[in-house]
Amino acid sequence: MSDQMIDEDRRILTEFLGECWHGWNGEKDANNYAVCSCGKILTLGEIGRFSCSIANRTFNTWEDFGALKDRIVEKAKMPEFIRYVVLGSRDLSVIRAMVWWERKHPLERCLLVLEALKQGALK
Ligand SMILES: [Zn+2]
Repeated sequence: MSDQMIDEDRRILTEFLGECWHGWNGEKDANNYAVCSCGKILTLGEIGRFSCSIANRTFNTWEDFGALKDRIVEKAKMPEFIRYVVLGSRDLSVIRAMVWWERKHPLERCLLVLEALKQGALK
């Protein structure tokens, strides 16, 4: 898996959190203004794309990884996540797995959540 994230990946993780992916999905309000799913009227940027005043998550921060971790716990899927990420695909001892995990940057951790989601390990 790439160590980069594209907008589609960020959208998948955002929707896993149950949050709005801010941007235009073609909707307009009664006054014909382009609106975001969060309800805000969108503004037309310099490159001709509508954007929302609320920024999307980058999944490159501890805060964003923390939100994913809380969501996994809330869905009672932490055992599945650990099994998938550490035991299933990497065959590490518990100590080596802990050392491996503790070296992970928030973006790398978010990418592992994305990988687990795409493989259906968090359903
Ligand atoms: Zn929005």
